[in-house]
Amino acid sequence: MKKLAVLTSGGDSPGMNACIRATVRRALNRGLSVSGVRKGYEGLIDNDFVDLKSSDVSNIIQRGGTILHSARSERFHAVEGRKSAAANLEKHEVDGLVVIGGDGSFRGADALASEYAIPVVGVPATIDNDLWGTDLTIGFDTAVNTALDAIDKVRDTAAAHDRLFIVEVMGRSAGFIALEVGVGAGAEAVLIPETPTDLERICRKVKDRVSMGRTSNILVVAEGDEAGNAFEIARKIEDRSGLKSRITVLGHVQRGGSPTTADRVLASKLGWAAVDALLDGAWPCMVGEISSEITHIPLQDSWTKRKPLDPLLITLSENL
Ligand code: ADP
Repeated sequence: MKKLAVLTSGGDSPGMNACIRATVRRALNRGLSVSGVRKGYEGLIDNDFVDLKSSDVSNIIQRGGTILHSARSERFHAVEGRKSAAANLEKHEVDGLVVIGGDGSFRGADALASEYAIPVVGVPATIDNDLWGTDLTIGFDTAVNTALDAIDKVRDTAAAHDRLFIVEVMGRSAGFIALEVGVGAGAEAVLIPETPTDLERICRKVKDRVSMGRTSNILVVAEGDEAGNAFEIARKIEDRSGLKSRITVLGHVQRGGSPTTADRVLASKLGWAAVDALLDGAWPCMVGEISSEITHIPLQDSWTKRKPLDPLLITLSENL
């Protein structure tokens, strides 16, 4: 192998830049040259390649977002799109591709690898932490800390005004963020898609707390909870119990900001490991970290197997 390419794809997450930096520097360190592909798979199709030197990735480890930009690419879903992408990789004499992204990006990477025998390694970067094969994904720790900071602030105003607040965090199909943040913020209840939401019980709990003089109440809800989003849940709670609530939807603030130390370190380890996986013939795979060990799993396992929530965290969220 003489040259590799790196891209960031799908939803951005804090720590992607730290991962690009580690990938580029490890590749240079092992005697390879590196191209960055801008805007994910869109850039692969549109031939948007840039040469990356060590100095090009200076001073980015602390920055959120991605210097390569990210995108969703409808065209990459089609055979024609992937054909152009493979042709461009060949034109640039790229021997291996590092894809930094989430499960959608890995589905695309897997298709490219199987159709064109292109050596591909995926690096798990998504704030949702919903990929099997790694304890944590790049960006999760930062997102959780951003949400926690916001909820601590909401708690102050909830206490000052004797209010019930419903805070919606990201997580369309997974409750990792909500659970972690809910336990960390001492929320009165955490509503996640993986467990049945018992609104009667929640209403009783809040009413009991109010009758005991505990006037600040916070519910954390994952956007994909089966009982509905924060607005629907607020309406259902009011219909059942007469309790009025205020709603805070954290939305995209959770994606931004400077990555935490944990995310910078994880991103650095996995960027390094991705290059080694390519050079050592471990592709196609996703690199991850489980109990401080670097792991390589088939790309498909990352989305076909379901990562379990920590059962102790669920117990804590229901009982503390
Ligand atoms: P994430 O990687 O954050 O999960 P997306 O789900 O949006 O983000 O996926 C990113 C991109 O990966 C998509 O816009 C598309 O170009 C590509 N992709 C996703 N699923 C597939 C698929 N089944 N086949 C080919 N490409 C795919």
